[in-house]
Amino acid sequence: MSSTGGQSQLVCSGCRNLLMYPVGASSVCCAVCNAVTAVPPPGTEMARLVCGGCHTLLMYIRGATSVQCSCCHTVNLAFEANQVAHVNCGSCRMLLMYQYGARSVKCAVCSFVTSVEGSTSTTDLKFNS
Ligand SMILES: [Zn+2]
Ligand SMILES: [Zn+2]
Ligand SMILES: [Zn+2]
Repeated sequence: MSSTGGQSQLVCSGCRNLLMYPVGASSVCCAVCNAVTAVPPPGTEMARLVCGGCHTLLMYIRGATSVQCSCCHTVNLAFEANQVAHVNCGSCRMLLMYQYGARSVKCAVCSFVTSVEGSTSTTDLKFNS
């Protein structure tokens, strides 16, 4: 789905600004720092995550397993958009699955909306059963 009207985005390799460029361009010159950033080949899907260290928006090629932040050098684990995580329903404790990046999950059983915000870091892989 590309409903952006022929525009795409990437992060400047120099100053980390988010740049817009027309689809089909092979490189983008940053208006801020004049760095030329190569555009990933067509079909390369970019994904985004927020750095767990400094909360800068990072872009990476989908499929990568980790992304190092150019600002604070934190290595962030990259989860594919279709990867799922688990959370227990805040009401009935039913184990729910949700996509990484989701902010809340609605329980199919009791319809309670459980917030899953705040775990963009590499922690929270504890399973207490
Ligand atoms: Zn720049
Ligand atoms: Zn960072
Ligand atoms: Zn529930």
